[in-house]
Amino acid sequence: MVHRVVACGSPIVLPLTASGRISSTVVGSPADIGGADTVLAGLRRDARRAQCMTHVEPVAARPGRHAPWPEWVDPVLRGRWVAAGIDEPWTHQAAAAEAAHAGRSVVLATGTASGKSLGYLMPVLSRLLTQPGARALYLSPTKALAHDQLRAVRSLRLTGVRAATYDGDTPAAERDWVRAHAGLVLTNPDMIHRGILPQHRRWAQFLRGLRFVVIDECHGYRGVFGAHVAAVIRRLRRVCARYGSEPVFLLASATTADPQLSAGRLTGVDVEVIDDDGAPRGPMDFVLYEPPLLWRRPAEGEAQGASGEPRGAGENGAPVRRSVTAESADLLADLVADGVRTLVFVRSRRSAEVVAITARRELGHVSSDLADRVAAYRAGYLPEERRELERRLRAGDLLGVAATSALELGVDISGLDATVTAGFPGTLASLWQQAGRAGRDGQRSLAVLVARDDPLDTYLVHHPEAVFGRSVEACVFDPDNPYVLGPQLECAAAELPLTEADLGLFGPAAPRVVDDLVRRGRLRRRPTGWFWTQRTRPEVDIRGTGGPPVRIVETATGRLLGTVDAAAAHSAVHPGAVYLHQGSSFVVDDLDLPESVAFVHEESPEWTTVAREHTDIRIVESSRSRILPEVEVHLGVVEVASQVVGYQRRLVATGEVLGQEPLDLPPRQLRTRAVWYTVTDDLLAGAAVEAADVPGAVHAAEHAAIGLLPLFATCDRWDIGGVSTALHPDTGRTSVFVYDGHAGGAGFAERGFLRIGDWLAATRDAVGACECPAGCPSCVQSPKCGNGNEPLDKAAAWRLLTAVSGAVG
Ligand SMILES: [Zn+2]
Ligand SMILES: [Zn+2]
Repeated sequence: MVHRVVACGSPIVLPLTASGRISSTVVGSPADIGGADTVLAGLRRDARRAQCMTHVEPVAARPGRHAPWPEWVDPVLRGRWVAAGIDEPWTHQAAAAEAAHAGRSVVLATGTASGKSLGYLMPVLSRLLTQPGARALYLSPTKALAHDQLRAVRSLRLTGVRAATYDGDTPAAERDWVRAHAGLVLTNPDMIHRGILPQHRRWAQFLRGLRFVVIDECHGYRGVFGAHVAAVIRRLRRVCARYGSEPVFLLASATTADPQLSAGRLTGVDVEVIDDDGAPRGPMDFVLYEPPLLWRRPAEGEAQGASGEPRGAGENGAPVRRSVTAESADLLADLVADGVRTLVFVRSRRSAEVVAITARRELGHVSSDLADRVAAYRAGYLPEERRELERRLRAGDLLGVAATSALELGVDISGLDATVTAGFPGTLASLWQQAGRAGRDGQRSLAVLVARDDPLDTYLVHHPEAVFGRSVEACVFDPDNPYVLGPQLECAAAELPLTEADLGLFGPAAPRVVDDLVRRGRLRRRPTGWFWTQRTRPEVDIRGTGGPPVRIVETATGRLLGTVDAAAAHSAVHPGAVYLHQGSSFVVDDLDLPESVAFVHEESPEWTTVAREHTDIRIVESSRSRILPEVEVHLGVVEVASQVVGYQRRLVATGEVLGQEPLDLPPRQLRTRAVWYTVTDDLLAGAAVEAADVPGAVHAAEHAAIGLLPLFATCDRWDIGGVSTALHPDTGRTSVFVYDGHAGGAGFAERGFLRIGDWLAATRDAVGACECPAGCPSCVQSPKCGNGNEPLDKAAAWRLLTAVSGAVG
């Protein structure tokens, strides 16, 4: 519903949480938050909306701090920047530039729009202008960002700097020119791995002159991909050393818990951290927002929930919240109706369309002119279309845009008043990046985080300190993962034989991994080192997630609809599964595992499908542990055996189970790293968890813990799995396991082990903050449970988590 905001002096409503508690916010007087005519005051005037606002954080304005241009900056370059309106750099830009110029590797970890690029371009471009043989590499996680950077460099019109992109789209003829002549090559880690290092002899001149390597958006290198990139960079350093160069690394990162540690892990060199942001920032109101619970009125004679409340429409009768998409579309319509330039960030292309269409429909009731000023923006648009949308937004012609995170990186959008983030984007770094888009000419801006029906989102909107306090989220990956290191050492040996001295570069796990490769006949030991034995080069997909992805093909037409990861295929596209794709519904006819293809036909049954999976976990070894009187916590290697054994059909409208179907799919094995805790019967008794309630308590505690781990490590809940049991044969006790979902581990379990006390305390708080009676998707239900979310005991889980976090905290 669109409400009109009338600018008047009505009092500011204290925000209440949906459960009626007054939130912990200190709400200032109208003057403190910028006057009653602010966008925020408009939102608050709607009583229902004010109830959903769990917290409002006034983010103070910060004045900018300048530093003089370093003396060594090339005068022509400086002149171009001054002409572009940059009179002097900000302090952090100058500090990073000075360090790199002096030969020290550096990570620049400051906010969005703080101008990190000027910090690395100063030393890089100055060197290229003054030293004819000097070369530099720029790495970004996406092609689009590299192309944006190229445009920025070219706009400086420096005849002495030959810059070029080098990626999968670069024509063969141009590649020769880039190798021979380009001073600055903008590329991605995939091309270093597949294109440059295997042909290093052809790149000899470039590598000999390599002085700087810029790694932009380095917080994007996480999990298994991060481990691969760390190895690729070590391979690059080794080959450079062969040609006599030792480049300085300049990394740009979002603000994370420990940029120095993650930048050091990524490059293997000591890195100086610069995080004192000297860029100015306008004031902002940051709102945490939780959509209301929707209660379904029970039909006559229908059973009530255990505590007398009406049962909801969710799984096992759980209540559901109003969807984040519907709520965000409403917010967008209201803001646009008030003339507020707003960008809504959503997770999928489809949601971008749905939010835009819904907002346009609502605005259409007010004025058709307003409806035309809202659009969707998502990946897959042509550059011209993209630029046209950006131009209309800047000009104020477009007032509202619903965008996928494609907009988050490298695209120049300014002049916005408000951002709405529809569902936590996975990391705090992304959240701040999105919020940082708003703020026009130092005016007060608004950012809103709308929670999804998910434990982490629930936790965040009820724990403002987790969003606004010091970041606890670290960019996590494990460079010692043998499943990554093995193939990477094969690549390295194929480039140049490995020597004893090289092994140190690849970390403490390298000698063991090399021995294993020799045993398997992949490498041969000779007096001068280890040699690659095969004729063809090793095949390694650095973005791979274990096996080729499964293609989804429409049987009748042969049309390729999309792909799913091999690991998810058994539960997502088994025969009979209902598969949704861009708003259309398909049913899987056949899953051909050897060929990695699922055949589907279009059909919209009244039901969805949920896979049932059996999972067993066996402990291979515990490598680190904390032994306390009633609780033990371990980090180690486990073997996870899982098998999708069937699926349930459930009515879309009510979640009612229509039937069970068996499936005949092979079991799968995963050797990975896990964190687990075990508790004694005394602890359970002390927490008043009866023997019969233990399975429901540990299962609920496991689900919620998986939901909260992304607060401490840059992972997605889909990157991790869990197993809980009242009695595990390897521990002899009640045990809860959380494991990395990728072979060899990705570093997430390790982070959970290191932060176990905070992690379990946050998990307990998330469970406690949810006002549902007996468990819902916001607290203990999991969208990927292989057991149909049964049994779950929310109250007992809270008591168990309180006892365990108290013991380890
Ligand atoms: Zn709940
Ligand atoms: Zn489960």
